[in-house]
Amino acid sequence: MKTEEKEGIVFDIQHYSIHDGPGIRTNVFVKGCPLRCRWCQNPESQSVKPQLMYRLEPCVGCGACVPRCPRQAIRLEEGKVITDRTRCNGCGACVSVCPAEAREITGEPMTAQDVLEKVIQDKLFYDTSGGGVTMTGGEILAQPDFVAAVLKLCKENGLHTAIETCGYGSWEELDQILDYTDLALYDVKHMDSEKHKEGTGAGNERILENLARLSGEKNIPVIVRVPLIPGFNDTEENMRQMAAFIKEKLPTCQEVNLLPYHKLGEGKKEQLERENAAFICEPPAQEDVERLRALLCELGVKATV
Ligand code: SF4
Ligand code: SF4
Repeated sequence: MKTEEKEGIVFDIQHYSIHDGPGIRTNVFVKGCPLRCRWCQNPESQSVKPQLMYRLEPCVGCGACVPRCPRQAIRLEEGKVITDRTRCNGCGACVSVCPAEAREITGEPMTAQDVLEKVIQDKLFYDTSGGGVTMTGGEILAQPDFVAAVLKLCKENGLHTAIETCGYGSWEELDQILDYTDLALYDVKHMDSEKHKEGTGAGNERILENLARLSGEKNIPVIVRVPLIPGFNDTEENMRQMAAFIKEKLPTCQEVNLLPYHKLGEGKKEQLERENAAFICEPPAQEDVERLRALLCELGVKATV
């Protein structure tokens, strides 16, 4: 199959981003993630398949969606719409009949060429700002062949490329992507593997090994990103271990970005009618974030919030 024809599932393309790499960028969000972070703020991205999103607020209870479903997944109970998620396959038949726009499908099949045509529209902005394209998710390692194909086309068209990854995949999957990557934004959620497993469902050994190879063997510039989750990883000990790892293993690390937890993902979980994994916490206090940032700097690692 030609590179242009490689197909993947994309759940969003955001233009004019200034937070995910240098300059003005277009962020391409692919679906699917092998981790299950308890604080995930994009729960609609976890499954690799297209998914139905339903918002209770605008729904007027008209029932127009019920007979449209070929899988008999929707029923009305006392004016309330209930979708049986075990039956729903995300076909989207119920979306167009909804007069209140309460239903939508997240995730769209696209070829690598489709993505290129979307992102290249902003080439003028990239050229004037030093920006480019950032592939993110979900998790890019859920669709490594597709992500590599998109980045290859971007490089062939002279675009700067960045990836945002949790690094939880095989080295071979990551390596094929790195061949077309100018900058890696790499999430490190905890330096202690047991704690990492508690928070994400998986240990961190493979993640840290891939990160060290990305920097040490492939020489790719890297920005380490740390989602700061109160009560999970916001400790001085974790920052000390991180600084030591960066100094020993990451010769190309440019800086650490601390990303304080926020609550924006909660509403999305409701739209997916998903049982929450009971993760409730307040965003970290600004002074605590600043204290950890200053500590990393004291330890010789540039850190920003
Ligand atoms: S997306 Fe398809 S399967 Fe799911 S509820 Fe709507 S019509 Fe039924
Ligand atoms: S068609 Fe839309 S507004 Fe009507 S019951 Fe279904 S989700 Fe609610």
